[in-house]
Amino acid sequence: MGNVLDRALVRVLPAIPTPIVRKVSNRYIAGPTLDDACRVVRELNEAGKMATIDVLGEHIDEPEQARALVREHDQVLDAIERNGLDSTVSVKLTALGLSIDRALCLENTEDVVKHAAESGNFVRIDMEESTHTTQTLEIYRELRGRGYDNVGVVLQSRLRRTLRDIRSLADLKPNVRLCKGIYLEPPLIAYQGYQEVRDNFVAALDLLLDGGSYVGIATHDEWLIEQSLERVRGMEPEEYEFQMLLGVRPLRGDKLVRDGHRLRIYTPYGQRWREYSMRRLQENPKIAGYILADLFGINGS
Ligand SMILES: Cc1cc2nc3c(=O)[nH]c(=O)nc-3n(C[C@H](O)[C@H](O)[C@H](O)COP(=O)(O)OP(=O)(O)OC[C@H]3O[C@@H](n4cnc5c(N)ncnc54)[C@H](O)[C@@H]3O)c2cc1C
Repeated sequence: MGNVLDRALVRVLPAIPTPIVRKVSNRYIAGPTLDDACRVVRELNEAGKMATIDVLGEHIDEPEQARALVREHDQVLDAIERNGLDSTVSVKLTALGLSIDRALCLENTEDVVKHAAESGNFVRIDMEESTHTTQTLEIYRELRGRGYDNVGVVLQSRLRRTLRDIRSLADLKPNVRLCKGIYLEPPLIAYQGYQEVRDNFVAALDLLLDGGSYVGIATHDEWLIEQSLERVRGMEPEEYEFQMLLGVRPLRGDKLVRDGHRLRIYTPYGQRWREYSMRRLQENPKIAGYILADLFGINGS
C-alpha cells in the first residue's frame, strides 16, 4: 500500500461515519465492556492462545482519571482470576498519570502490579512515544527494585537507543516484549528504513536471548517471524512467546500454535474504541493501508 494513498486515506477518515469505523475496529477491539474482553479471551484460550488485556483510554489530565483506571485494572485482574482466563494485563503509564506526575504514576502502577502479584498475574508496561521512554524504563527499574518480578517492559526496535537500553537493563534480566514501535519518530532518534528497523529487531532479540531474558516476540512481519523462529530453535516453549494484535494475521497465529509455540494476543477493550482507532491511524498511516487491504480481503493469512 503506497504511503501517499495511506496518508490520503487518513485525511478522509474523520469523515467516515461511525458505523463504518466501528465495523472496521470490531476486528481489532474486543468490544466496549470487560465482559466483551472476557468473552474474546475465552475464545482465544480455547484456541490455544494466551492473551493480554488492554483497557482503552490513554489520554488523561486529572489524577482522579488515573485512579479510575487503577480501579478498572483491579476489575480486569479480578475478572481474569474469577473466570480462570489465561491472560495478563497491559498498561500504559500515561493512562496511570505519567504526564501529570511521575510519583503518582509510580504509585498507581505499583498498585496494579501488587494486585496482579496477589493473584499470580503479570503486568506488561506498554511503551509509548519516545518522550516517555526514559521515565518508563526508570519506573520499571524502580518496581523491580521494590521486589516485583511480575512486571515487564516493551522495547521498540525503531529506536536507535534500544540496544543500549537492553545493555543497561541487563542486570535485571528483564522480561521484554520486543516490537518495532507504532509511533513515528524523527530520524535523529529512530531508524527510518523498513529493513533497518527489522535488522535492529533481530539484533535486539539476539542480545536479549543471550542475556537470558524472556522475550515476547511481537510482530506480524513474516520475515521477522522466520528470523525469530531460527533463533528460538532448541529452546523450550516456556522460554519465549510470540505476540500478535487481536484480528491481525490470525491464521499465521494458528500455525504458530499448531507448531508448538506459545502465542499471546493483545486484546483491547473499552468505550473509547473510536478514539483509539483514529489515533492509531493518525500515528501510523500504514495502518490505514492495512484496513483498506482488509476491506478488499488482501490480509488475514
Ligand atoms: C502484541 C503487540 C503489542 C504491541 N505493543 C506495542 C507497544 O507497547 N508499543 C508500541 O510502540 N508498539 C506496540 N506494538 C505495535 C508494533 O510496534 C508494530 O507497530 C506493529 O506490530 C506492526 O509491526 P509489525 O512488526 O507487525 O510489522 P509491519 O511491517 O508493520 O507489519 C507486517 C504485516 O503485518 C500485518 N499487519 C501489521 N499490523 C497490522 C494491523 N494493525 N492491521 C492489519 N494488519 C497488520 C500486515 O500484513 C503487514 O504487512 C505491539 C504489537 C504487538 C503485536
